[in-house]
Amino acid sequence: MTQRNDDPGWRIDTQLSHLGRESSALTHSVNPPLVRASTTVFPTLAEFKQSYTGIVFESPRYGRTGTSTNFELQRAMAKICRAETCIATPSGLSAISAVLSAHARPGGHILVQDAVYGPTKALCDKVLEPLGCRVDTFDSATTLRDKLTPETSLIFIEVPSSLTMRMIDVRAVCAIAKERGIPVACDSSWGTPIFFDAHALGIDISIHAATKYINGHSDVMLGLITGSYQALESTRAWCDRVGTHVSADACWLALRGLRTLHLRMQKHATSAIEVATWLQSHPQIRQVMFPALPSDPGHALWRDQFTGAPGPFTIELQSCSEAAFERFINGLQLFSLGTSWGGYESLVMPAIAQHLRALPVQPDEGRLVRFHIGLEDPRDLRDDIDQALALIAS
Ligand SMILES: *Cc1c(COP(=O)(O)O)cnc(C)c1O
Repeated sequence: MTQRNDDPGWRIDTQLSHLGRESSALTHSVNPPLVRASTTVFPTLAEFKQSYTGIVFESPRYGRTGTSTNFELQRAMAKICRAETCIATPSGLSAISAVLSAHARPGGHILVQDAVYGPTKALCDKVLEPLGCRVDTFDSATTLRDKLTPETSLIFIEVPSSLTMRMIDVRAVCAIAKERGIPVACDSSWGTPIFFDAHALGIDISIHAATKYINGHSDVMLGLITGSYQALESTRAWCDRVGTHVSADACWLALRGLRTLHLRMQKHATSAIEVATWLQSHPQIRQVMFPALPSDPGHALWRDQFTGAPGPFTIELQSCSEAAFERFINGLQLFSLGTSWGGYESLVMPAIAQHLRALPVQPDEGRLVRFHIGLEDPRDLRDDIDQALALIAS
């Protein structure tokens, strides 16, 4: 009972229920205690000295580098992702910036997939480039090889890409990178470890906006980075030096979210495909961008790389006036208007100028709208979208 973490044979549902509970033995509770601390204290000089020989962010040292609550979440996440280790960061974007910054240097070169999450692109353009690290973009595994230079220190991808939901051939990217000894980092937030086995596909550094599905309740900001000790060595050192800290409360809540991750993901997936399939045949919809749909250009890659698709997905409306578009968005009753996704509730995000600027290819006059399909009854969600689409023509 005490060695909960030591059974590698557990299947995912058993892991989700039993990992991350080692310290609960101390409190005779089901859940591990929530330990908040700035100061960590040691009973003897030997133990104090010992704390500096351990791996930072993995064992008690000082409050900034985490308490037992943080370590519980990180160990559980590493196991679930079949990785050696995991580093928590204060948000998904901070996890991305930690990985990119740790690999950037003046005169250096980083390759980033062109359709990544807008703030990832802004970090490259507004922070890394001005510091003298060249950041080039590429759009597919086919064009990657030509962009590599002797200075390339990292290849960064996101699958599928934000908003446009484009797939990339992860196996091919990783094979090219491996030939050259360049690490591959991937924003794996969409698939989560439930549907996307990043490390098995060859990804060295997998990044998760745990703010989204992993926490799943729209009340925590958190990033998680998984990989081998060697792959995360520079990122860990960077986090230590810049003072990265994650609150124990955020980790405790994310551990709670983890317990139901598989169940929630299955429900999101069945509802998302139901709503997306229905939308495909709606006359007001020009296209649905969702790799789980057989008609999607990324469908074959999605089938090869994922075991499910939770959404979010994007639709392109037939062109309409701004006033009609506003009637549609404002007319949705069950979809709240916001930029996030991954919680239990449905969300809609119309692409505005700021989102479109980040896209490598501008869409034509159709309007892009991203839906996150929550845990509501999908029939109610369909009805809601249907009545709101009717407002476009009214
Ligand atoms: C939301 C999001 C992030 C950023 O996560 P935060 O926790 O909001 O900082 C990163 N990548 C993708 C794909 C996202 O959707």
